[in-house]
This record gives sequence, structure tokens and C-alpha cells, in this order.
Amino acid sequence: GRALSSSLDLSEVPHLILKLLHDLVPYERGAVFLQQDAKTLEAVANYNFPDTKRAQEMRIHIREDDIYQQLCATRAPKVIDDVTQEPGWQQVPWLPLNSAWLGVLLVSKDQPIGMISLTRREVGSFSEADATWVQAFAAQASSALENARLYAEITQLNETLEQRVHERTEELNRAYRNLERLDKTKSDFINVAAHELRTPLTVVKGYGQMMRDKFLQEDNAQLQRITEGIVEGSQRLHEIVNSMLDITKIDSQALQMVKTPVSIAEIATRVANSFLPTLAGRNLSLTTSGLDALPEIEADPDLLSKVFHHLIINAIKYTPDGGRITISGEVRHHEDRPEIMLTFSDTGIGIAPEDQELIFEKFYHPGEVDFHSSGRTKFKGGGPGLGLAIARGIVQAHGGEIWAESENCDEEICPGSQFYVTLPLT
Ligand code: ADP
Repeated sequence: GRALSSSLDLSEVPHLILKLLHDLVPYERGAVFLQQDAKTLEAVANYNFPDTKRAQEMRIHIREDDIYQQLCATRAPKVIDDVTQEPGWQQVPWLPLNSAWLGVLLVSKDQPIGMISLTRREVGSFSEADATWVQAFAAQASSALENARLYAEITQLNETLEQRVHERTEELNRAYRNLERLDKTKSDFINVAAHELRTPLTVVKGYGQMMRDKFLQEDNAQLQRITEGIVEGSQRLHEIVNSMLDITKIDSQALQMVKTPVSIAEIATRVANSFLPTLAGRNLSLTTSGLDALPEIEADPDLLSKVFHHLIINAIKYTPDGGRITISGEVRHHEDRPEIMLTFSDTGIGIAPEDQELIFEKFYHPGEVDFHSSGRTKFKGGGPGLGLAIARGIVQAHGGEIWAESENCDEEICPGSQFYVTLPLT
């Protein structure tokens, strides 16, 4: 039994059966047949056959009441002393005649799965004792075959699974490459559109300013107001075009940084001052705390100003009139490295947890875009959806991190949002 179970190779076990059996009950020729289907037995191993190739191709067509059916019916070994006297015996034509035959059924889970067939030349040369030995051996052989079959099944299953995983990975890779290509096409389009828009916009803005100055001199209030509208509109378009150019630079990792020692407090004050009329108009307070105490950092002041600009303008846009915006800063140690951590808090509508990461994707808007009101700094004013993507690109280019936290998005309760920005100090 131990020797039989030493192999789990389904093509090897039947040969092992015949070899070990030969040591136990010597025979002249032997074969193991396994049932392929209800009608066919197929030789899976042979021992001492004159023509091995032909022996490998041996098939037995199962017929009613033939010897195999008798083995199935009785489940006992069958000894034939002289096959020439056995009714219905079919002698394989290319085989020398061996008179004595001993057959034993192979059974697994109580079902016949095949048989061991042994022959000796001399008439009546198999004894009952031989039959008992082979019968006992066949029980071990059956379980060895069953184990090998299960093992082959598992191996096959593993291979199929591996193949499936491989195919799925390939599919995912293809989809990923496709998405990358689409993203690149989108970036290329934004880039081209922004460049094409910039020149005519500069012209509109330039002439608008000239006309506004002229009407100012002429003291023509109505035309002055109209041209003021043109200038403001083109100014706004200019900002959007610049944001489009910023994002294409970030996407193509072509952001150029000119680093100098930078005071965070100065940048915050400069950007905050540019929003003073808006803050007053919307009755919003903007205060800072701890920024003066922060050390200078090596950074690109223009790019950092953009981070402040986008975070402050968002805080303005998503906080109802009368709300509070605060910017605080501290030095902390993160993973043993010193860094500046800035917190932009507002008392606005907040951000749903599932959107807190997605809002940093370009063009992402939670909820219905149509519900946005228009206007650069109005409450819930719509925007192109680029501000946070630009802020993240710039912060990451400085080796820092940016993320958002908020309890939820609720326009009634206004739980507020916090945006955190870290910038390494070394
Ligand atoms: P935009 O403001 O142009 O839509 P952003 O990238 O700046 O694009 O912001 C993406 C989205 O993140 C906004 O549409 C808004 O839903 C959400 N968001 C950003 N800042 C805040 C904030 N302070 N409070 C609530 N929601 C915010």
C-alpha cells in the first residue's frame, strides 16, 4: 500500500500496480483497464506484452454478460483455467495464447472503474489463493488510482485557474493601457484647447482694458460698466485656461519649479488679500493662526500661491454667507522627518466620505453638475473641477501630501471641511 501511494502521477500509477503485483503474484502478461465510459475499457498500462504500442491501444467494448460485466455483478475475482473453453472469450489475434486468466475488478466509491487482467501460459495455473491476493491488492490499487485521479483533477483545476488569472490580468492590463491612452488623449486635448484659446483671449482682454480706460476718461458710466464686464469675463476665462495649462503640465510631469526660501505667512496674506472684496461681499471671515511662527521652506512661491488660491476659493465657494474660514499651521514630525502641516478649515457644506479622495481627480464633481450656480466665488459656484487636482499636483511635486476630511456633505447642518497640506522641511 505504501509503495502504491508513493506516486500521484495518473500515468505512472497503473504501471506501478502491474510491477508491484508481479512481485506478489507472478504472471506472464498483465494489463490494467480503466472504464472510459459505459461502453469502453481502455488499457492504461501493460506488462510483458510482445507489442507494447499495440497493447497501449487495446480497447474492450463492454458487452452484456461479458467477463467484465460478470466481475461487476459478482464483485469477486474471476479465474478461468482455460480460455479456449470459455464461451464468448475473444482472443486478441496478435497475442500468443495464454490459457489461464485471472481478472479482478477495480472499485472506487463503490463504483466499478476498471479491472486488472493477468494471464499465465499453463492451463489452470492461477489458484484461489492467487485470486485472493490479487483481490486484496486491487483494493489498494483502486485507492491509489483514485488519489492520483483527484490529484490530476486538482492540478488541472490549478492550471485552469492560473490560466484564468493570467487572462484576467491581461484583460485588466489592456483596459488600464486603454484608460491611460484615453487620459493622455484628454490631456492632449486640454493642452491644445488651452493654447488655442489663450491668444484670442489675450487680445479680447487687452482691447477690453483699453476701451474701459477710454470710457473712464470720457466719464461714460454705462459703457464703462459694459467693458468692465468684458474685462472681468476674459479675466475669468484666462484663469480657467491657465488652470488647463497647469493640469497638462502636472499630467505630463512637466511642472517647472523654481525653489527659493519661502515664507508661508507672506503667501497666505498675499492670496487672502486678493479675496478681501469677495470675503466682505459674502460676509465670510478668513483668519490665520500660527503661520507667522513657521520656518521658511524651500519651495516655488508662485506654485504654492496657487495651492492657497484654490483651497481658499473652494472654502469660499462651499461655505454659505456668514461662515468662517481659518488657515492654521504647525511644524510636526512625521516618520521622524520635520514638516509643515497646514490646515484649511471652513464651516461649509462639507464633503461626503466617498468623495473625499475622488475630488482630487480632475473634472470630478460630486452630485449633479447642473445644480451648481455659476460665478467664481458665489456659494456653490461651479468651476471646471481642476483646482484640487492642480493643488495635489503642486503639493506632491514639493514632496508633500494633501487630503480632505469632513464628517459629511450636508447643506443644512454645514459640518465644514478640513484640507490638510504637508510640506517637508528637509
Ligand atoms: P471646482 O471647485 O472647480 O469644482 P475643485 O477641484 O476645486 O473643482 O473641487 C472639486 C470638488 O470638490 C468641488 O466640486 C466640490 O464639490 C468639492 N470641494 C472642494 N473644496 C471643498 C470645500 N471646501 N467644501 C466642500 N466641498 C469642496
